[in-house]
Amino acid sequence: MLHTRHKIEYDPTNCVGCKLCYKACFIDVIRWDEEKKQPIFKYVNECAHCNYCMASCKKGCITVVPDYSSQSYRQSFDMYR
Ligand code: SF4
Ligand code: SF4
Repeated sequence: MLHTRHKIEYDPTNCVGCKLCYKACFIDVIRWDEEKKQPIFKYVNECAHCNYCMASCKKGCITVVPDYSSQSYRQSFDMYR
């Protein structure tokens, strides 16, 4: 399993509990808190920096901050060369 140091910032202020971020994450970085109706960013060290969660949130609650030094970040650019 690839381990990364990307960070995910979550501001719950405008979160409406729509679950789209949870459904968008194709790995299990994001879990769901049924009580609070909010995402839990549990396995952040497995984040692939796909930005799907950030793009899926129409309320602007999520910001994915890439670790610019990581191998996976560089590989995402190498694909388009
Ligand atoms: S950036 Fe991608 S892999 Fe990382 S938490 Fe969001 S959806 Fe999951
Ligand atoms: S997509 Fe945004 S508004 Fe919806 S549950 Fe996730 S953080 Fe909250």
